[in-house]
Amino acid sequence: MPETRIERLCIEKGMKMTEQRRVIARVLSVADDHPDVEEVHRRSADIDDRISIATVYRTMRLFEEAGIVERHDFGDGRSRYEEATDDHHDHLINVQSGEVIEFQNDEIERLQEAIAKEHGMLLVGHKLELYGKPLKEND
Ligand SMILES: [Zn+2]
Repeated sequence: MPETRIERLCIEKGMKMTEQRRVIARVLSVADDHPDVEEVHRRSADIDDRISIATVYRTMRLFEEAGIVERHDFGDGRSRYEEATDDHHDHLINVQSGEVIEFQNDEIERLQEAIAKEHGMLLVGHKLELYGKPLKEND
């Protein structure tokens, strides 16, 4: 199987890549959503059923500390993960369905920089989560 970007980053950062870590790295690489640890474990165990939830926890913490994955809290107390990439986006969470929509908005980005500047700072990062529910109640 070809090496994923996450695997390459891990190796560049001097992380020892065990077979189980590689499986977890691959699961994260192909994910187009924001799985929590349990979901990452489910998907990893589908590939290799020897992978324990404890291993997934440890590996996610390691990946997060290395800046390889980003951890989000979308308001339900569970940590969600996604691969950290250069193309920045923010999240809009549907509080009824739990669906997470990714968006980019230049105006918001500009505003945030302006706010930081007003306080004499250069913006180096931000996290923005919007919570919403559908405008129309379908009952
Ligand atoms: Zn995202």
